[in-house]
Amino acid sequence: MKHYDNSLAGHFGTILAQREAELRAVLDTGNKKELSDAQPGNGEVQDFKDLAERELESDMAAMDEARAAIELSQVLAASRRLREGSFGQCLECGKPIDLRRLEVLPSAAFCVACQTAGETTSHPLTGA
Ligand SMILES: [Zn+2]
Repeated sequence: MKHYDNSLAGHFGTILAQREAELRAVLDTGNKKELSDAQPGNGEVQDFKDLAERELESDMAAMDEARAAIELSQVLAASRRLREGSFGQCLECGKPIDLRRLEVLPSAAFCVACQTAGETTSHPLTGA
């Protein structure tokens, strides 16, 4: 199993910076959209179906933003671990995280075993 080492700091630094920029763009777009929606006379809605679709769209946008906000905090935390030299170590057990996992999910904070254990505890009904 290959693990992260300091020679990969630049590689993951680039990936995390790119992801951070993408997520900030999602959050920026969401904020601007909300502002323009709040303006009076911005397209009168007379049809209930239109109204429902509009609400559905803004709900989905809000969900995207919530997801982006969560992922952004994880990406920022991973960037900080990268600078502090603890990147690639599981926050739970301290063991190195599989490099293939980090390639797929650079903001991963837990190894597969701890991630799975955490998911099991959060779903007690299915974990039995
Ligand atoms: Zn672990």
